[in-house]
Parts: sequence; C-alpha cells; structure tokens
Amino acid sequence: MTTPETGRAKPQGSLARLCTPRSVAIIGASEDDRKFGGRVLKYLVKHGFAGDIVPVNPKAATVLGIPAYPSVAAAGRPVDVAIMALPAEHIEASIADCAAAGVGFAVIITANFAEVGAEGLERQQRVLDIARAAGMRILGPNCLGLMSPHARLALTPSLSMERPDLPAGGVALVSQSGALMATMFDYGADRGIGFSLGVSVGNQADLEICDFLDFAIDDPKTRVIATYVEGLANPLRFLDCARRAHAAGKVLLATKAGRSEAGIAAARSHTASLAGSYTAFSAACRSVGVMLFDDANGMVETAGFLCEAPPYREGGAAVFSGSGGGCAIALDRISGIGFPIAELTEATEAALEGVLQASHRHLPLDLGVLQAGWSRANIAAALERILPDPHVGAGICVLTTQPLMVETVEEAVKAARQAGKPVVIVNLAGVAGEAPRAACRKLGYPYFDTMDGAMRALEAMTFVAHAKPSAPKPVEPGAVPPALEGRVGRLTEHEAKLLAASAGIRVTREKVAATAAEAAAAAAEIGFPVVLKGVSKALVHKSDVGAVKLGLKDAAAVGRAFADIAQAFATHRISGFEGCIVQEMGRGEVELFLGAKHDPEFGALVLIGIGGTTVELLGDVQVALAPVTEDEALAMMKRMKLWPLLDGFRGRPAVDVAAAARAASRLSELAAGLGSRLQEIDINPLLVGERGAGIIAVDGRATLMDGA
Ligand code: ADP
Ligand code: MG
Repeated sequence: MTTPETGRAKPQGSLARLCTPRSVAIIGASEDDRKFGGRVLKYLVKHGFAGDIVPVNPKAATVLGIPAYPSVAAAGRPVDVAIMALPAEHIEASIADCAAAGVGFAVIITANFAEVGAEGLERQQRVLDIARAAGMRILGPNCLGLMSPHARLALTPSLSMERPDLPAGGVALVSQSGALMATMFDYGADRGIGFSLGVSVGNQADLEICDFLDFAIDDPKTRVIATYVEGLANPLRFLDCARRAHAAGKVLLATKAGRSEAGIAAARSHTASLAGSYTAFSAACRSVGVMLFDDANGMVETAGFLCEAPPYREGGAAVFSGSGGGCAIALDRISGIGFPIAELTEATEAALEGVLQASHRHLPLDLGVLQAGWSRANIAAALERILPDPHVGAGICVLTTQPLMVETVEEAVKAARQAGKPVVIVNLAGVAGEAPRAACRKLGYPYFDTMDGAMRALEAMTFVAHAKPSAPKPVEPGAVPPALEGRVGRLTEHEAKLLAASAGIRVTREKVAATAAEAAAAAAEIGFPVVLKGVSKALVHKSDVGAVKLGLKDAAAVGRAFADIAQAFATHRISGFEGCIVQEMGRGEVELFLGAKHDPEFGALVLIGIGGTTVELLGDVQVALAPVTEDEALAMMKRMKLWPLLDGFRGRPAVDVAAAARAASRLSELAAGLGSRLQEIDINPLLVGERGAGIIAVDGRATLMDGA
C-alpha cells in the first residue's frame, strides 16, 4: 500500500497549549458584537476564561474595560494563542506580527483561502510559510475556533455561545465544519451532554483532524470522540488514530460528507476538501472499529449516551413505559434492528410479587399496572428488580405523557447506575416532557427525543461492545505472473484468471480458440461438457449479447456454438472478434462476486457480494480494507443480507463458505501486494459448491496500471 505523503509535521509542542492556554490574544477585538472580534471577546469573558486576555485593536485603549494593544508584540508578555477575525488580506501581516511575538498558535477564523480557488490557496500557503518559519502552528483558516469547557475557554465567534453554560464532560468534538461543531455542541449541551473539547479545523492548512484525535485520545478527560470529516489530510493516520483510540478504551464515532456527487462538490467548496471515496472510508471505519453516522446531531447524542451510560456487554432489551403502545412500538423497532429482547428469569418474576400484578410480571414492563399504584417507590421497586436480571442487557425507558415522569427518569438512571447497565431514555412527550428533560440534564444523563435516536444508541452500544479493530497487516509486495509482465490496461477474461490463479484461486481450465475447429480440439482436450464465450476487447458483458454458451456436450455442439457467437457479434455490431474461449463447465450451488480495487486514499479494498450477473441489482456487497484473513472474509459474508442462502436456506445445501473465504482472502492479499498496479479485479461469478466441494472462478475482469 502506498502511503499518501502529505508533508505535514506532527505538532511538536503539545496541543495542550492551544486547548488550555494561559493567555489569549484577540486580534480585531471590538465592543461590537455584530463583529467576529466582538463576539469572540464577549464569549471569552462571558464563559469565564480565567487566563490572560489580550485584546488587540490599534484604535482603542480598552475593549470591554480590558486594556488593549495596537499589536501582540506591544502587549509585552507571552501569548499562547492568538485568534484572528480579520479580512483575508490583513491576515499575512497579522500572522507575521504574532510570529515575531512568539505566539504558539494562531486560530484563523477568516475565510477566502484555499476553498475559493488558486489565489486563495496561494494566500493560505504564504500564511503557512510565515508561521512555519517561526514554529507557530495554525488552526484553520476558515474555521470557527474551539471550545475547551474544562478550561472555561470559548474561543469562537459562534452564536452557539449565547447559551448560558459551557458544559464540561467527556465528549470531544473534532469537526471540519465550524457551524456543525457549534451546533453539535449546542444541541448536545441541551441534552445534558458535557464536552471536553469542541474544535473546528476548517481548511486544515496546518493542524488537521488527526492532530486533535491524537490529543483527545491522550486527554484523560475525554471518553468519547465524535468527528465530522469532509476530507482526510492523511487517511492512513486516521486508521492509526482509530486503533490507538480503541487501545486507550475510547470510542471514536464519525460522520463523513461526500456520499453523493452533490455532497462531494459541497465539501470541496466548503473547506477545499477532496472528499475521497465514501465506500472506502466506510470500509476503513469498519475495519478499525469506528462507527459511522450520516447525521451530526445523531452522532453527538449517541456520543453523549456512550459517554455517560454504563457500558453494554450482552443481553436483551427490557422495555418499560407508562404506555402499552409505547412498549409495543419500541419492541417492533428493537426487533427490527435485530437487537435481542430480554425475557425475565423465574427468579426475577418471583421477586416482582407484590410489585406487579400476577398477569404483568413479565417484559415489557407496563408501569400502568404497578400493583400498589403509580409511585416513585413502586417504580423503583420494579426497576431495581428487573435491571439486574441476567437476561437483561439494557433498559429502554419510553417516556410518554404520563404521571411521575421526573420520578421515572430519576429512578431509571439510578437503577442503571446501580446495575451497571445502560438505560436508553426516549422522551416522546411534548410540553409535559420538559420537566423530565431538565431532570436528565441535571443528572448528566443524556436522553433521546425520538425512537430513531434510541435505536441508534442500541446499535452503537452493540457496535462498541463488539468492535475489534483489525491490526495493521504487513503486506508483501506482489508481482504479476510472468505471462502478464509489462501488461497494462484492461485484461481479457483469460488474463484476469491467470492473475487470480497466481494468487492460488482455482479457475476454469481453458484455452482460446481462433476457429471452430480449434475450439472443438480444445474442448476434447479439456473434456465435455464445455463452455464457449466470445472474445473481444470491445465486449464487457458477454452473456448480455448471447456470447456465452453453456453445457456443450460434444464437438458438434461446440461447432454450432462457435458459429452462433460469431453471428451474435455481427448482429450486435461488436468489433474485434478474436475467437472463443473454451472452458471447463464449473459446478456450484451459489454464485458469489469477489472483487478488489485500489483506492487512492486507503489502498486496496476487497469486495464480496452475492449474485453473479444480478450483483448490482441485489446490492448485497461487503467491502473491507485489504488484506483480510479468512476469518475476516467469512465475517464479511455473514454480514450479507442473503447470507442464509449460503448457509442452507430452506433445505438447500450449505455451501463451501470456508473455500470462498479462502479465495477472498487470497484475492485481497494479491490486491494489497500489487497496490496501485492492480486498479481493479472482479471474479464474477465465483461458483461455490456444497460444503467440501470447493470453489471455481468462471469469469474474470481486471485492469492493470503501469508498475511504477
Ligand atoms: P458475463 O460477461 O456476462 O459476466 P460470464 O462469463 O460471467 O459472462 O458468464 C455468464 C454466466 O454464465 C455466469 O454468471 C455463470 O452463471 C455462467 N458461466 C460462465 N462460465 C461458466 C463456466 N465455465 N461454468 C459454469 N457456468 C459458467
Ligand atoms: Mg460474469
């Protein structure tokens, strides 16, 4: 695999000087809070930053009563961080001033740099050069700064800082977008989530996402990291961060833009990011145990939950609600995502005597039928018996407009903490739900407004409980077989199979025949029945035009098939007919798709799908970073929706999944070893026989690039 070289240095000094500074200069400080510099100062003061504040404004002696200076140097004391909100054309001079004054970090809010094209990119580069020469680091440009709640530091002009508090906690937000970072912060804070960091990196001219991921991983106050990515400056470093996070016992969640063409274009003009392939990013995340979201607020509420709720280990869901309907809907949704549903043990049922009437001593727990009536004591009695049940892995509290909502959430959180099991609180109520929402905030226990959010939490809990990042695997540089040396471009079916065979994958015995007579001779040599396929560089989907003839039993059939295929080429006006490939007739119960392709960011990817010619239609394809082990390949197959078809569905024979996994693993090693030389390879189909009968590749396609 090639490592994309970014030429970036890892931060030498610690980012602690940026995130917990002793002194901050605001370049362009003002009393007018319609201006960026006005709001930055206002929020810095408002949220109680205790360090030294240095307003820089050549026209004022004081700003908000704080002595101001015409330049950073004029302040005559050390400054850790300078934040600047000036027109783009003034940034260079200001950066030079800061560099000369020995400032550690410059936060550039100003936009109009790389994201606006070549001229902006040049300006950005000049700013960077000045900073580099002085050893000063840059956050941004085109960002919204950062919040560091444990240090009571709000270093941002974002209106989200109008909120009264700056809740400190264990969630670190690392975002390319400033507005999304601020919104996630604001939205999360409303739900009782506390943060260790909120940082927006903008154009990532210097400091990039991974610098802050590394910082958050090492930061003892951070437990969960949520990152919003447009484009990674160094994709392979992201993988390292994910593995390091896992090793440090921290959860990493990600939302990435650029799933669609429209999203890709938006990311480019937003932060000059090349969005890269979403498929590759998502495969990478799966490989290294990062959970991927498609919505930033959904991510942050899940992050808050994972941070504060006791961790899930195993066991089913225990649903409880004042509403039988709420219970039923929750159970439908929980079943729908395949999360197990708990049934109480007999011992727990017995312990519920006196708490619940006999007919209702089971799950879901309908709080409406508490035997001694609806009271805090009775709710507590039920929950403290149910949650510790060995079958119960998590509680789901569905709050509908009902009596004792505050008491219910308080007792639910207490029971969760006592049992060391998570309870997901879904507050479906309107105005009546305000009091329990406030109660959750006070307890520092996040809640969800929707069943969607609650289901994401269950999925995330399961993901985190099972996530096991694959270790980086050493890759042996590979070579193409001698017959393909120097070959560049799209390979023929036969050449693609030579490549697959060189990796140890069984392929059909076959021979290319230029004439019908040659084909008949080849068939006799290979042994009947045979398959004939027309060969031409211009033909991609052979069976679509009748150029594949299966099950030919004798020489006469071969002759007829040859003539028919030649005719099909003429009918469909396909040029370059080179004859036919004659091949053994493979046998199998199921057709799989095996593929690999080279991603410029993450290197080789391996794909396993089901379906032969219907693979695109079914869309049941799993993707992973190559190489994969046989076990990992098997796990990919088990994640396919149609896995039951391989596993003996309705009396069909179970197929040789072990042999298929071996083939996938070998193909993945081939692709990883060849790197960018192998742009892509497809085996479609790979016929998979009954258990023990093995596999055979009957069709292949591949594209090779220059070996450089
Ligand atoms: P296409 O270019 O249309 O993908 P294929 O070579 O994959 O052509 O052939 C189409 C279908 O014919 C395959 O999906 C498979 O079902 C069947 N087939 C092709 N070659 C063989 C073979 N050697 N043995 C058995 N079946 C084959
Ligand atoms: Mg095919």
